[in-house]
Formats: sequence, structure tokens, C-alpha cells
Amino acid sequence: VFITFEGIDGSGKSTQVRLLADHLRASGREVILTREPGGSPGAEEIRRLVLEGDPDKWSAETEILLFTAARRDHLEKTIQPAVDAGQIVICDRFADSTRLYQGITRGDLRGVVDQLHDLMIGREPDLTFIIDMDPGIGLARAKGRNGTEERFEDFGESLQRKMRGGFLELAQEFSDRCVVVDGNRAIEDVAADVAQLADERLP
Ligand code: C5P
Repeated sequence: VFITFEGIDGSGKSTQVRLLADHLRASGREVILTREPGGSPGAEEIRRLVLEGDPDKWSAETEILLFTAARRDHLEKTIQPAVDAGQIVICDRFADSTRLYQGITRGDLRGVVDQLHDLMIGREPDLTFIIDMDPGIGLARAKGRNGTEERFEDFGESLQRKMRGGFLELAQEFSDRCVVVDGNRAIEDVAADVAQLADERLP
């Protein structure tokens, strides 16, 4: 089973990924945690290429190619082998992030993202949690942590707002696999909802 978490920067995805893993392991399931961009040695190298250094180094189109290349490697080396071995894979961000970050922040490139996805990835998660979060709070949280590579905080709240709307639209577009969880609550309340939804939906 392949589960992803999506949401704006500062929405608390990474914490919820860990808490869901704890919950599923406690019920005896085998779980691996991973993240994008990255999640395999090759994809982590591409992550550094994209997220470190000059943000204008790559054109929007080249960036889509790099993210797709990273995802292909991640899928081949990490996700698919684990799913085939019967493990539950929980991934912090996946193609939905590219549909939005690369698809709408630097022009209207969603069509390019989707074509490359069909060609080189061709797989959606079985279940996607979209952690919905007030854009102002998310931004403040993202700015409050150090040592991470937040790329978009300088664009401020209007971009966060656009991204939030984008994630909610994706949740409707892919309503078969997406569930929206209200992230504007205490961590343990969000985690309890996520755990319940996962238990209901997992085979
Ligand atoms: O999820 P995480 O905080 O690790 O993401 C690191 C940075 O990369 C964030 O600022 C995020 O917005 C950005 N990102 C991106 N395109 C993606 C995924 C993440 O620009 N497809």
C-alpha cells in the first residue's frame, strides 16, 4: 500500500507522517517512511541540485524534468520494491506537490507535469492525506523552523493561499484517493483522524 501526505509548507505533514507510521507499526504492520524530493540515493542528489543554491538556476521546465527524474528513481528504487514486498510506504509529498509547485507557481505548466507523469511515473498513491492549513499559520510555522530548505516563504501569504486552494482542488479532482484533514488543530487530534481514516481504508 502506498500512502502520501500533501499540503502547504508548515502544514505539519512530516509530523503526521511519523505519527501514522507509529500507529500502523503498533498494529503490527511493516511500514517504511520516505519523502520527496528525495527518498533514494539518486533522488536525494537531485534534491540537492534543485533545493540548494541559486533558485533561478533551472527554468521551470527543467525543474519539472528534474523532479520527475527524481520521482522515477524513488519509485524504482524505494517505493515499488517495498510495496511489492507487502510493506506500507508512507511518503511526505509526491506527484501532487509537483502538480502544484511546478505546475502553477512559475506559469501554467500543469499539462507538462501531467504528460511527463503519464510517461515516466504512471502511478498514483492508494491513499493521499491532504493536510489543510490556514496559509498564515503555515507560513509562520515554516518560517519558524531552521535548517530546512523552504523555497517559497519569500512569496508570502498570497502564494500560500493559492497553494492551499490548489490542494483542495486536487482533493476533488482525485477524490477516489484523497482525503482532506483539518490541520488547524492540536497535533494529536489531527493524528487521531488520520489514524482512523487509514484504518478504515487499508486492506
Ligand atoms: O516538504 P519539504 O518541506 O521537505 O519541501 C522542501 C521545499 O521544497 C519546500 O519549500 C517545498 O515547497 C519545495 N518543493 C517544491 N516542489 C516540490 C516539492 C517541494 O518546490 N515538488
